[in-house]
Amino acid sequence: MMFRDRDGSTYLPYEIVKPMAQASRAPIYSWYPNYLEQGLTAGSLMSHEAHGRRAGELAVQILRGERAAAGATLPRPPVGCVANVARIEALGLDLHALPVGCELANRPPSVWREHRGKVLLGLAVVLAQALTIAALVVQRHRRREAEDDAARRRLELGRATRVAALGELGASIAHEVGQPLGAIVTNIQAAELILQSGHPDAAELQQIFTDVRHDALRANEVVRRLRALLEKRAVEMAPLDASATFDDTLSLLMPEARRRGITLERDLATGLPVMGDRIQLQQVLLNLTLNAMDAMRDTAPAQRMLSVATRVADGGVEVQVADRGHGLSAETQGRLFESFFTTKPHGVGLGLSIVRTVVAAHKGRVWATSRDGGGCVFKVWLPLANASASAPDDAALQATTQ
Ligand code: ADP
Repeated sequence: MMFRDRDGSTYLPYEIVKPMAQASRAPIYSWYPNYLEQGLTAGSLMSHEAHGRRAGELAVQILRGERAAAGATLPRPPVGCVANVARIEALGLDLHALPVGCELANRPPSVWREHRGKVLLGLAVVLAQALTIAALVVQRHRRREAEDDAARRRLELGRATRVAALGELGASIAHEVGQPLGAIVTNIQAAELILQSGHPDAAELQQIFTDVRHDALRANEVVRRLRALLEKRAVEMAPLDASATFDDTLSLLMPEARRRGITLERDLATGLPVMGDRIQLQQVLLNLTLNAMDAMRDTAPAQRMLSVATRVADGGVEVQVADRGHGLSAETQGRLFESFFTTKPHGVGLGLSIVRTVVAAHKGRVWATSRDGGGCVFKVWLPLANASASAPDDAALQATTQ
């Protein structure tokens, strides 16, 4: 208690608490609640109001004669521990050392104290978002892996179907390679005879060598085309001349057409640039022409005509493969491009679905119509390289083509 200082100034005791709290780092303890605002650290505070009320109640009881005035006392008031958090923190004291149940007053505002619920909710939302993002990243990674795997398998399937298609050409390809090789052997024998004659004719030998070279190149060309189609490699989008690309495939098919008694007619316009994968586009033509040849199995020999033409149409390249085969029934027409749909005894039903996927990945279209006079015509439209605003869908091709 302090009422007057050495200079004679007088105070009410509570007035001195504030300057003491400002001047000293010693904690101030008391039981007067009005010290709290002045800088009290903590205390077992009594309540003036509660005291007054209880004294009043006691007086009423005495006045009513309910209890004797002599010896009337109040029971001990409940102890109210109150701590001034701002002071405790300012003095570096430990809040946790307070008695259990101590009321915490004068707490400095803190986001955590004021908005604990909202902070927890926010944290929960952030955590949930983080978990969702992590799950999405994992899912995306797995999907990417699955897509890569699917793309790889489709490429393998594409190659397997090319191998199967070329297997059908086996006999004619063997003949196509065998013929120049046979001619080479005959020419070499003739050259040996000329050399043995004693007076070799240089001009004649020169002609023989020219023929040998021509035949070797011819055989080599067939092997090159075959190897190009069987090459094991990833999809490669590049600018191509559509007609030259298809012409290569037709040259490979020519002997087979001959073997089957089919006249192969080609009408390829020059200079049709497309952006695409050479092997996949060749596979499109290979599948369409083999189907056309199959369809003409029962066609009268004189009518067996396969026409392949390319032309510019609608700002793109249109490839037409027309035959005089058995044509398309209504049911076949509706299911042509379905995977595993086949009407052939040993068919697999993948050829046209591969065609459609490859063409779609090149941002093109494929469709079939019946032909007047019998047979049908398959048409493939591909955007011209300089006409398409964007390059073909390389990613889609990698992901979706066979
Ligand atoms: P596959 O050749 O193994 O049957 P495809 O997907 O290449 O598989 O062809 C599916 C079906 O479409 C064939 O079985 C056939 O019925 C029909 N088809 C395809 N091309 C022709 C065509 N040029 N003429 C008539 N039918 C055809």
